[in-house]
Amino acid sequence: MSILIYAESAEGKFKKTAFELASYAKKIAEQNGTTVTAVTINVADASALAAYGVDKALNVTTDKLKSFNAKAYADVIKQAAAKESAKIILFSSNTDSLYIAPLVAVGLEAGYASNVVGLPQSLSPFQVKRHAFSNKAFVVTEISSDVKVLAIGKNSFGLVESASSLSQEDFAPSLNDSDFTIKVESSEKVTGKVTIADAEVVVSGGRGLKGPENWGIIEDLAAAFGAATACSKPVSDLGWRPHSEHVGQTGKPVAANLYIAVGISGAIQHIAGINSSKVKVVINADPEAPFFKVADYGVVGDAFDIVPKLTEKIKAFKAQNS
Ligand SMILES: Cc1cc2nc3c(=O)[nH]c(=O)nc-3n(C[C@H](O)[C@H](O)[C@H](O)COP(=O)(O)OP(=O)(O)OC[C@H]3O[C@@H](n4cnc5c(N)ncnc54)[C@H](O)[C@@H]3O)c2cc1C
Repeated sequence: MSILIYAESAEGKFKKTAFELASYAKKIAEQNGTTVTAVTINVADASALAAYGVDKALNVTTDKLKSFNAKAYADVIKQAAAKESAKIILFSSNTDSLYIAPLVAVGLEAGYASNVVGLPQSLSPFQVKRHAFSNKAFVVTEISSDVKVLAIGKNSFGLVESASSLSQEDFAPSLNDSDFTIKVESSEKVTGKVTIADAEVVVSGGRGLKGPENWGIIEDLAAAFGAATACSKPVSDLGWRPHSEHVGQTGKPVAANLYIAVGISGAIQHIAGINSSKVKVVINADPEAPFFKVADYGVVGDAFDIVPKLTEKIKAFKAQNS
């Protein structure tokens, strides 16, 4: 019996969430006296997982899985789970994993808990704490099935190094033609920019910036941090910024280490999507703006005055400390 994780990757490289998931799995493995096995898809060398306590990697390499395909990926993971007799199967909360995890749970008749924010509170009965109601509350969920599937919230555990002697094995699961009835013909990717999903720091602008012509101050601050840029819903609805930058309940979730909100009022639908970020900095001209209630640091003032000054400070700090 081992704990199985799906170590997500992009273009042959593991995502940071794969290492966070491995760290989480290692801790449960220690509690259970068992080992951690990772499934990787189209990663030439999984040795980077050894630093985070993974004991074994099952490496699947096939052009058939070059494009994401939830059903086929789920099939691969189900077969890996059967091979390893895995009782706990872990996913991160990236978009792709959130498609795969329920399919795996259904296929294995397993109980499934998403948005998990900490180690199991108890192993018997098996209880985990989760975010609920758009991250406004916590619930404790008990899973009574033999096999358990969990999706761990981003940034909810962190990276914990724990060296292991990783063994790697080629794994060739059978792929079902019926899983490939949908084919990706082409994909267009944002290039040369940090994506919101992967960013440690996100600088986000709202309607307080008055118009798209003023986004230079947001981009300059983001560049100083090496951050991704984001925006509130009305900003993307107005066409000031691309829809890919819209964050919130109906947009992308943000679980960055630092989220800087500039000229955003802090409506519940916006907060719902950024709540999992660790440190929230709010810059707003209105001292009564609701966003200040959830801010770790708040600056009351005109964004057009404050943001360029902040950018200069960050640049100077980086120059001194590089
Ligand atoms: C079903 C539903 C789903 C929704 N989903 C989302 C979602 O996913 N994401 C989302 O963002 N919204 C969402 N919304 C919209 C949400 O309710 C708010 O309307 C929206 O978040 C407000 O955007 P904003 O803060 O940019 O604009 P505003 O509410 O207009 O706020 C602008 C802010 O800028 C400040 N400001 C003005 N000038 C300056 C200045 N010079 N310097 C500094 N600050 C300044 C103002 O004080 C104000 O607080 C949703 C709404 C509904 C009904």
